[in-house]
Amino acid sequence: MIIDCHGHYTTAPKELQKYRDAQIAALKDAKHAPSKGALAIRDDQIRESLENAQLRIQRERGTDLTIFSPRAGGMGHHVGNATTSRYWSEICNDLIHRVCTLYPDNFIGVCQLPQSPGVRPDNCIAELERCVNELGFIGCNLNPDPSGGYWTDPPLTDKWWYPFYEKLVELDVPAMVHVSASCNPNFHHTGAHYINADTTAFMQFITSDLFKDFPTLKFVIPHGGGAVPYHWGRYRGLAQDMGRPPLKELLLNNVFFDTCVYHLPGIELLLKVIPADNILFASEVVGAVRGIDPETGCYYDDTKRYIDAIDWLSAEDREKIFHGNARKVYRRFAARGAKR
Ligand SMILES: [Zn+2]
Repeated sequence: MIIDCHGHYTTAPKELQKYRDAQIAALKDAKHAPSKGALAIRDDQIRESLENAQLRIQRERGTDLTIFSPRAGGMGHHVGNATTSRYWSEICNDLIHRVCTLYPDNFIGVCQLPQSPGVRPDNCIAELERCVNELGFIGCNLNPDPSGGYWTDPPLTDKWWYPFYEKLVELDVPAMVHVSASCNPNFHHTGAHYINADTTAFMQFITSDLFKDFPTLKFVIPHGGGAVPYHWGRYRGLAQDMGRPPLKELLLNNVFFDTCVYHLPGIELLLKVIPADNILFASEVVGAVRGIDPETGCYYDDTKRYIDAIDWLSAEDREKIFHGNARKVYRRFAARGAKR
């Protein structure tokens, strides 16, 4: 079985964006308190949106199940206020739940959180609980920068986040560190803001005792861990200079990397540097990079091809990367599988 731990509903029916556009337009009218409203999307529209996209790609590439969440760029936590974010997150998560109900063998849900800049992450606990306990979701996407590129909230290691982490631990679900759109024109969202955030989160983890406080808390850093594997020597050296424990001891029980790296040399580097126990297969389709690489004739985001091409990877490590580690990190998936 091959589990892709990182997919977004980037192909949702246009009604979803219309809802969001109306929500944003209503923010301009200060006289009206925002109302949640509703989304009218039929099941056949959902099927149509997936059949020729994520489902076709699963079939063509030979992957089985995608851990599926709302479009990350669309989370837009910087828009409006906490209520705006709550309604929008509920709408997006409910839609993911419908996808997972229609295709229970192909998708399992991960939620968007109703974060808002300057608002304590405690306000996300209710939606996390709803998604995990009522909708059967197995994780969440946690935005380390709800401001969208200005980093106005405390680092992930600050006590600011602790009540939310307590809930993650209690529910036994991991968080993928995942920013959303960038409103800072210096940072292209998928090309710079995403990779910056992945790298930034990892460096924050090195400087703190977060995992002493939460020994079972788990994070997945997407996009191959940003610049981290490439600069592993720098991070090991910085930890050493700061008198921190070796990285393996400091955070490799808690921090995992996905394989959303869109060329073979990058995947080779990831697999050489990061222990196989800490790597989860992912491709982030349909997502950040949609084209075909003229050098290979294959889609950039067909990450399974790169892993398949690495002949020095042992069968045991391959199994871990393709599904074993996902079961270990997304522990509710394993529990659900056992129930089936
Ligand atoms: Zn993503």
